[in-house]
Amino acid sequence: MKKRIYLDTAATTYVSGDVLQAMMPYFTTDYGNAASIHSFGRDAEKALQISREQIAKAINADPNEIYFTSGATEANNWILRGTVLNHPSKRAIVSAIEHPCIMETCADLAARGCKVDYVKVDSDGIISVADMVAKLSKPAAIVSVMTANNEVGTIQYLNTIANLCKERGVLFHTDATQAIGSILIDVKEMNIDALSMSAHKIYGPKGIGALYIKNGLKVNKLLFGGGQERNQRAGTVNVAGAVGFGAAVELTIRDANINNTRIKGLRDYMIMQIEQRIEYAKFNGHRNQRLPNNVNFSFSGVEGESILMLLDMAGIAVSTGSACASGTLNRSHVLAAMGVPDELNQGSIRFSLGRNTTKADIDYTVNELVKAIKKLRSMSAIK
Ligand code: PMP
Repeated sequence: MKKRIYLDTAATTYVSGDVLQAMMPYFTTDYGNAASIHSFGRDAEKALQISREQIAKAINADPNEIYFTSGATEANNWILRGTVLNHPSKRAIVSAIEHPCIMETCADLAARGCKVDYVKVDSDGIISVADMVAKLSKPAAIVSVMTANNEVGTIQYLNTIANLCKERGVLFHTDATQAIGSILIDVKEMNIDALSMSAHKIYGPKGIGALYIKNGLKVNKLLFGGGQERNQRAGTVNVAGAVGFGAAVELTIRDANINNTRIKGLRDYMIMQIEQRIEYAKFNGHRNQRLPNNVNFSFSGVEGESILMLLDMAGIAVSTGSACASGTLNRSHVLAAMGVPDELNQGSIRFSLGRNTTKADIDYTVNELVKAIKKLRSMSAIK
């Protein structure tokens, strides 16, 4: 059988066996609509409540502060639109390296007459506190800064930013999609007012996520319809998905130490191998303030897409920048904000490791990478 190595867990993960097992009854026997009053509905509602508790516990929120959504994209759209459009300032402050679902929502808000300010990052992808302070000198509806970046893996100093917001009475939101299970999050202790998350990055199903909204905050609705989710998010709740999400969060947090220690070891081994064996390879992101599973490099003189294709032919799945940007030859806005020149920006590859990654996978991948880059560089030299 052809070798297949998956190094794209930041794009998505498989559904773990335990999670799938927990979900199964909600497709087949306990299929009630959680809004129905009869016993089928009540059983579904009970399951939903347990999942809500599991998710709340993971970030030290109260269960009634968790609202199920279709994923982090919806959660991010909701929190931005639901706070900015009706705020007197009509202003949002976000980092320059947010996920496209924040960036595109901001572009749309700007097109509707709102004001959006983008906070600078340094060459490691860390938010400039000075720039944040400057941007906070004028009123704003919300500050949104991701906990950890999906492309380069840089982890922000969230406490500092959250405290600046608290001092000024500005709502602080973080997109924690890539961070759950890698970073301990306590929304109360860290002064986080709103937080987005998604199940399919932590071995749960696709199409389910959640928005945490601190009790007492006024956030307008994104979706209108039925009275689900305490009348805040209309639409029949994906009960099986929510059950899977709850199980996935619980298992991820339970096994975080053991998994992260092992994956981090492989990550550092891979970084060392690439730096030792490939010339003109630029490491991207912060060396230490970094997700345990993220490796990101730019290779001079080659295009990321070409590397991706050669690795794919060798059975290895990786990504250029973010998965949402791959398939196009666009440069990464994240690397651009970090000051990476265009030539290197287009030669960047993200490897994201997971629970199943082995040292043999890394050895095979680095060997194939060495070959691919040699081949591509020799081809460009002939031209
Ligand atoms: N934010 C970040 C940081 C992400 O990595 C992703 C997934 N690529 C999303 C948001 C979107 O999540 P979902 O797929 O659940 O809509």
